Amino acid sequence: MSNHYRNREESPAAFICQHCKRTVLNNQPGTRHRNHCPWCLWSRHLDNIAGDRKAACYGNMEPISIWVKPDGEWSLVHRCQSCKCVHLNRIAGDDNEMLLLSLAAKPLANPPFPLEYLIKAS
Ligand SMILES: [Zn+2]
Ligand SMILES: [Zn+2]
Repeated sequence: MSNHYRNREESPAAFICQHCKRTVLNNQPGTRHRNHCPWCLWSRHLDNIAGDRKAACYGNMEPISIWVKPDGEWSLVHRCQSCKCVHLNRIAGDDNEMLLLSLAAKPLANPPFPLEYLIKAS
């Protein structure tokens, strides 16, 4: 399409997920600026601001958590493995729901203190 997509591989129609190697289509319902894989939720560091494709990093971005906005909308928290920066990305309509739930539950399943303290206190 336009030349602000510097690299053919990052064309707006589809890209190959660098983590699970599946082909990810960009034009699925509920997606805008698709930048993460609906199967494994990994992303790539292509944007400074969602959709701008201006980042020169191209690092793989690991989904590390869920952020819930005041209106209840979920966003994925991605952390770049190369430059360590953290980005927020809206979830898409076809994202893997089980993975989203397990990401959201992760801190509860791994509390930084022994659970028996809570039980004793109550
Ligand atoms: Zn993937
Ligand atoms: Zn990066």
